[in-house]
Amino acid sequence: MTIPDKSKKVTKLKIKPTIITRDQHTISRAAISENALKVLYRLKNAEYKAYLVGGGVRDILLGREPKDFDVVTDAKPEQIRELFRNCRLIGRRFRLAHVRFGDELIEVSTFRAAHHVSDQGEGHTEDGRIIRDNVYGDIDDDVWRRDFTINALFYNIKDFSIVDYVGGVKDLEAGQLRLIGDPAQRYIEDPVRMLRAIRFSSKLGLNIHPEAEKPIGEYAALLKDIPAARLFEEMLKLFMGGYALQTFESLRHYSLFQYLFPQTDKLLDTQERDYPHTFIMQALKNTDQRINEGNSVAPGFLLAALLWEPMRVIADEHIANGLSEMEAVQLAGDTVVSRQILSTAMPRRFTHMARDIWTLQVRLKRTKKRAIRVLMHPKFRAAYDFLLLRAQAGEPLGEFVNYWTKEQLEEPLAGKEKIKPGYHKPRSRRRPRKNQNNNSADS
Ligand code: ATP
Ligand code: MG
Repeated sequence: MTIPDKSKKVTKLKIKPTIITRDQHTISRAAISENALKVLYRLKNAEYKAYLVGGGVRDILLGREPKDFDVVTDAKPEQIRELFRNCRLIGRRFRLAHVRFGDELIEVSTFRAAHHVSDQGEGHTEDGRIIRDNVYGDIDDDVWRRDFTINALFYNIKDFSIVDYVGGVKDLEAGQLRLIGDPAQRYIEDPVRMLRAIRFSSKLGLNIHPEAEKPIGEYAALLKDIPAARLFEEMLKLFMGGYALQTFESLRHYSLFQYLFPQTDKLLDTQERDYPHTFIMQALKNTDQRINEGNSVAPGFLLAALLWEPMRVIADEHIANGLSEMEAVQLAGDTVVSRQILSTAMPRRFTHMARDIWTLQVRLKRTKKRAIRVLMHPKFRAAYDFLLLRAQAGEPLGEFVNYWTKEQLEEPLAGKEKIKPGYHKPRSRRRPRKNQNNNSADS
């Protein structure tokens, strides 16, 4: 891989933006959340500049409902905090403000200048990756640090215009995902942008511009140096956005899946059977379906599904060496999880849930005794859904599916967790569930 020459000095780019006035675009305030508008207006009334940026602008222009709203301003983090009581400053790599309104979080950041690989500064590692990113600037600095042109459109609350420095509106119209600046350099600065390219292209149905596509092969391995906790966050966004199936296929196509789930990736490459692939596809399809129907999906369930085959291969070896099925699954579960957290570090509750789902698969194949104890297990519902998923993917489990479907209907409290004081279970979880494709009851 080639690392660009660090001796080149980059001077500030003085480019005039295209201003798209209110009568020339489709962003109406009705499409922006009230809370985001409150933040924008309060900044404006305090004489600061304030723009909506990122996914909020992009998605409205595409006629979609934004997932969240990001605001950018010339107010410094401390000044933002002074304006909002419901505000917390976060972030080490860069400080930004989170303004909370009940469930909704508006992210407010201060204009920052881009770090370039060629800068002589402390903002990069030896190989050009950005580690600190806290040089404040103005809108014409901030635009260059953004990843894709379609993510760098600024909606100005002062006159409701869109400020476009990089041809983002044209790219949106053309349905293409184009990186700002030199693609190789932008991937070196932050390799996670390769994953973001896959995410946005899958989610928004955009083509990755050939120039942004070409360097992925060469620089993909830089993802190995990304902290496992960040990769976990990114993995959730990739798989829990309602486009997991498409995203998975694209990640595999660009050989990026191996940096998120190396054990699974290797197995998919080497297994001649169709089952591992079919199983994952079915799991992701169900996940997307649930999310698109407005239901929750537990990350622990997704993890159990994505690591199921690697776990099973190891468990089968243990069984061949004389361990009981339960011991084998427990041991294999430990091994697979401890390897996985090197790639995506995740909270214990997720890995515990995956382990519970796996060990319950063994217990769900025992239909003669102590059904009630299995039914009362807090992760029973998730394990039952997992059993359905396996059956859907072609495993001959019909007998067990029927048995547990029937048992569950006879025991309305099945899968009920001990209720902690002050903790209210969603109502739907108290009702027995019929045989259906839902893939998780615990989230
Ligand atoms: P969504 O929130 O729908 O996933 P988004 O585009 O809003 O998409 P965020 O992760 O919320 O994505 O980031 C907000 C904006 O910050 C982006 O649109 C982009 O301009 C900028 N940004 C985020 N991450 C990066 C990155 N790794 N490199 C460069 N710019 C980034
Ligand atoms: Mg966003």
